[in-house]
Amino acid sequence: LIQLYQPLNLLGTVYREIKQALIDMETMFDLIGVPPEIKDAPDARPLKVTGGAIRFENVSFAYDPARPILKDVSFKVPAGKTVALVGPSGAGKSTISRILYRFYDVGAGAVTIDGQNIAEVTQESLRAAIGIVPQDTVLFNDTIRYNIRYGRPEASDSEVERAAQLAQIAAFIERLPEGYKSQVGERGLKLSGGEKQRVAIARTILKDPPILILDEATSALDTGTERDIQSALRQVSQNRTTLVIAHRLSTVVEADEILVLNEGEIVERGTHGQLLALKGRYADMWQSQQDEEEALRAHGPVAPAP
Ligand code: ADP
Ligand code: MG
Repeated sequence: LIQLYQPLNLLGTVYREIKQALIDMETMFDLIGVPPEIKDAPDARPLKVTGGAIRFENVSFAYDPARPILKDVSFKVPAGKTVALVGPSGAGKSTISRILYRFYDVGAGAVTIDGQNIAEVTQESLRAAIGIVPQDTVLFNDTIRYNIRYGRPEASDSEVERAAQLAQIAAFIERLPEGYKSQVGERGLKLSGGEKQRVAIARTILKDPPILILDEATSALDTGTERDIQSALRQVSQNRTTLVIAHRLSTVVEADEILVLNEGEIVERGTHGQLLALKGRYADMWQSQQDEEEALRAHGPVAPAP
């Protein structure tokens, strides 16, 4: 009986692992709100990344045919450069990042990486080339080490710890009673938005992709955390093709190009200096954020009651 039981037991373990993996995928799709319905073309080939140059050519897109979201969007991110996407909430910024990762196919136009249409390459190779630090990071119900290692499953413990250091989360982890073995996620330790984002940054550092998408958190982070995250992001975007979605304009001043998106259209583009000189939408956004920061400096944040 024992001989019969052992293989069954092993099968049970395998089954549980597969089931957990499926649940993780579901949670992930749930949380990013995307259906996993995109299929590889029958003759799909692996993407060959040479420099990681991204190009959107006259891209239009709608989640629902009745409501166009992106309208004739064209831009380039040259290999190794940083392009920032700014604009009001609902403008379509995150949609652009989802299209680049091919969670959705475009309605019209094309997206290419190093001259290859992303609809014609295998999804596996496309997603291996891109690292996303999303607005809301999904943590798996597992240890913090597992969550970071997810970026590159074969990474060693010391590589995981090095990535955590670069992402400015190592000190926090080491203070936890169980350190890297601490359980996180729904059924474990709940991390703050800033902590989860740094876990995602560590994951991405470990993945080491040629292309990076950063969707910066909108949530009001305290200035210390904000500074830590900014410096972690700068680390990871060095020498990589980077598309950064920025809410706080102070973080895009150094971008090679800034695109201002409004209602799914690029309405202004240029460097920070050029856009200020244009005295248009970007200049207005910049002025109002400067005023807000000035007011904060003058009056300080609202202090909690003593
Ligand atoms: P941003 O990141 O600039 O705030 P998004 O790209 O997230 O904007 O969204 C652009 C528009 O698309 C919004 O009006 C949003 O409500 C809509 N939208 C986003 N995701 C979906 C979805 N999965 N299904 C339908 N509409 C969506
Ligand atoms: Mg968004």
